[in-house]
Amino acid sequence: MWIEFFEFFSGATMAYLITRIPFLTFPRVKTWNDQFPPHPEPIYIDGHLIQRVLHMRLFYWLALFFAIIPLTFGWISLEHGSAIFGFGLWSVSGWLILSRTTAFIAGEEPPFTKQLAMRLQNVKNISDSDDSCCAFAQPMWEIASVRCKACGKMLLNEPRPDLGRPRSDGWIMGFIRLLVTDGKAFISIDEEE
Ligand SMILES: [Zn+2]
Repeated sequence: MWIEFFEFFSGATMAYLITRIPFLTFPRVKTWNDQFPPHPEPIYIDGHLIQRVLHMRLFYWLALFFAIIPLTFGWISLEHGSAIFGFGLWSVSGWLILSRTTAFIAGEEPPFTKQLAMRLQNVKNISDSDDSCCAFAQPMWEIASVRCKACGKMLLNEPRPDLGRPRSDGWIMGFIRLLVTDGKAFISIDEEE
């Protein structure tokens, strides 16, 4: 009984980690983050940031492609190895594919969309124009929303999702948080302060 549970659990964990590889690794490379302040400081809304949102969108959807790996291993395992291990691999990667595609069909917004990038671009355009909130408008993406650094006006009511910067809560806690939230915005008490 315990051995079966362990096999299923290791299959499921493995599939979970493999499908999160694009999200957890690529954007966190140091040279990719030189132009951003360290996490969790607010980020200035500029071309780099908008590009980053689009990259994160790509990594979010790349997970579907990476799900093919545990599906393949799961299939081999079901055929030739441990059926329970294979089932663990299958259920997690299958669930990921199902939940992301159904959410997409249902019109639910993933954490990173082209629309989000466009809303940010819009904030940037307004700040650069004569309609800006103040003379020295500096839109910054804080944890809960986009605010002007100069006058404090809220410019976009959009909590900040994980943008791939190496996390200030360290490797282990940051890793666990990302696994739990899947990169969606979250506000915890220690970050609000
Ligand atoms: Zn302002």
